Amino acid sequence: MLFLISLSTLMIPLQVIMVTLFKLVTSMGLYGSYWAVILPTAASALLFRQLSPHVTLFLHTVDELDDGAWEQLAALDVEVVTGVVDRLRVASGTLRAVVLADGHEQRVDAVVVAPRFEARGDLYRQLGGEVNEHPMSGTFVETDPMGRTAVAGVWAAGNARDLQAMVSAASADGVRAGAAVNADLVAEDAAAAVQARYGTVGAT
Ligand SMILES: Cc1cc2nc3c(=O)[nH]c(=O)nc-3n(C[C@H](O)[C@H](O)[C@H](O)COP(=O)(O)OP(=O)(O)OC[C@H]3O[C@@H](n4cnc5c(N)ncnc54)[C@H](O)[C@@H]3O)c2cc1C
Repeated sequence: MLFLISLSTLMIPLQVIMVTLFKLVTSMGLYGSYWAVILPTAASALLFRQLSPHVTLFLHTVDELDDGAWEQLAALDVEVVTGVVDRLRVASGTLRAVVLADGHEQRVDAVVVAPRFEARGDLYRQLGGEVNEHPMSGTFVETDPMGRTAVAGVWAAGNARDLQAMVSAASADGVRAGAAVNADLVAEDAAAAVQARYGTVGAT
């Protein structure tokens, strides 16, 4: 049973909790601030509290939490451990404890670490674009709602432009970007036809 609980928490990708995390951060008025980067640590702990009454939050390199976060964590009996995490202690293939840099060991059954998502922006950079830092965690390609980027003729779709997108949203995004690309080509063809027929680039 314990193994299943551990496994189920480890299998939760950040995308699954990101919408809730994002809503928590925006509802706290912290979107775009440094707190939006620091506090998801506490917000993640609150989310995992839905799955287990035994949740420990290791602050690791986070210096401080605000009073509201401390209050929520205390009210939900989430234990908070300060100090930098040095390593995990594993014996006979079983996780036993989180070991802090000062040598303190905290018994745990499972560990969840929030990943950071980096948009694979190599191609976009080669085309002259720049990936942006996301206010939650990671990097993304900034676009308009149709997926148009800052680089003319380049669109982005899916997780590259929306770290919260999952399969259905990423696929819908691709359809939308495809339609926008087609609309752009139609407009280009029409402009070329006008140019060919009237010798101007558009109506005067
Ligand atoms: C562990 C895990 C579990 C998940 N579980 C779920 C789930 O249960 N349900 C759900 O809806 N979503 C889930 N997701 C999220 C889901 O997988 C993604 O949101 C979705 O795949 C995003 O689709 P995408 O097309 O934007 O990106 P991707 O699926 O990552 O596709 C991008 C593709 O582009 C390729 N690529 C990148 N750069 C280049 C380049 N320069 N040249 C050529 N190819 C390139 C990559 O190799 C990749 O194949 C999960 C994600 C993870 C990591």
